[in-house]
Amino acid sequence: DSLLLEKEIELVEPHVGYKKVLVTGGAGFIGSHVAEYLLNRGDDVVIVDEMNDYYDVKIKEGNLKLLEEMVEGQEGRLSIYKGDICDEAFMLDAFEKEKPEWVCHMAARAGVRPSIQDPYIYIHSNIKGTTHLMELSHKFGVKNFVFASSSSVYGGSSSTYFSEEENVDNPVSPYAASKKACELLAYTYHHLYNLNVTGLRFFTVYGPRGRPDMAPFKFIDRVSRGLELQQFGDGSSSRDYTFISDIVDGVVRSIDRPYPYQIFNLGKGNGTSLKDFIDLVQKHVGKKANIKMMPDQPGDVPYTCADVRKASYLLGYKAKVSFEEGISKTASWYRHAFEKDLIEICPERQANGLG
Ligand code: NAD
Repeated sequence: DSLLLEKEIELVEPHVGYKKVLVTGGAGFIGSHVAEYLLNRGDDVVIVDEMNDYYDVKIKEGNLKLLEEMVEGQEGRLSIYKGDICDEAFMLDAFEKEKPEWVCHMAARAGVRPSIQDPYIYIHSNIKGTTHLMELSHKFGVKNFVFASSSSVYGGSSSTYFSEEENVDNPVSPYAASKKACELLAYTYHHLYNLNVTGLRFFTVYGPRGRPDMAPFKFIDRVSRGLELQQFGDGSSSRDYTFISDIVDGVVRSIDRPYPYQIFNLGKGNGTSLKDFIDLVQKHVGKKANIKMMPDQPGDVPYTCADVRKASYLLGYKAKVSFEEGISKTASWYRHAFEKDLIEICPERQANGLG
């Protein structure tokens, strides 16, 4: 890719071999999948998660149980610390006991619309929390600090195909602003202390164990149960939906390659319209949706699509799962989880529509 080659970024070879990785937010959707992958390949994992009730805690407890069962009887493979990443004594204790050399920071308050209603919790968990973790990471000599940013930072942009070169100075929600603030602070920690730090801008992630406040879960759930589905806008808005295994692949590639300071988009690289999305959900759930048309919502972006050339060039990342395959896998998982009573739906979050 000529654009990237012109900048002569030095390619970092992957670090192979054992790691002990601190995964914050490891009881959540993306964090628990990353932890599962790392444990499977032989790494040890330390999880820090406050188990907040942004959505049903039962889902997070189920995620931790699954991880614990994977390494049952294997001493030292998985440690779990339940608490707030902003709690100084608690986090210092975790770092002193575990001395992790690799950090995958997924803990955050997520969601665009709730951040408009309650911005302070986003400043606390996302900005203060990330700063606190980078402070500890630099003090404890962490080799690589990888953290979750978000495609929402592109919110105020007029383009439709987002590259990392884009100006992201116009975030349109407190959530987006908090993620942009993390990226800025990450640069500062790299500059001041040579902390290797990489921010990953995820584009709408979905899949088994996905967040119940987000559209893929919510649409599958509501169509399955014959409940009304709120469609915001005329159905032409489009998003780059990315299947969880592709995101995990990108996160792990990034953990293994400590760049001094980089920001990467991680997405599928093409968008799906809301209308096509609903059609696919109907097909794979096997029921017709009961749609209620609603006006567009403030803070929502009409179109998101990732330019993933940089991640492809510097991380060797390439999304493999098509949206149809992903929705089919998610719908199968939902059927299983619903039958086994693994999920519980929080009614007020269900009213939010496209998450
Ligand atoms: P999630 O809510 O399932 O997971 C986040 C976890 O972090 C939760 O288990 C929560 O209890 C924990 N947490 C939150 N604040 C904490 C705190 N102060 N201390 C300790 N633990 C805390 O969300 P997710 O979808 O897995 O998202 C993971 C990361 O990816 C987040 O940073 C999110 O902003 C980012 N992201 C997600 C998406 C997506 O589509 N899911 C898109 C863009 C960015």
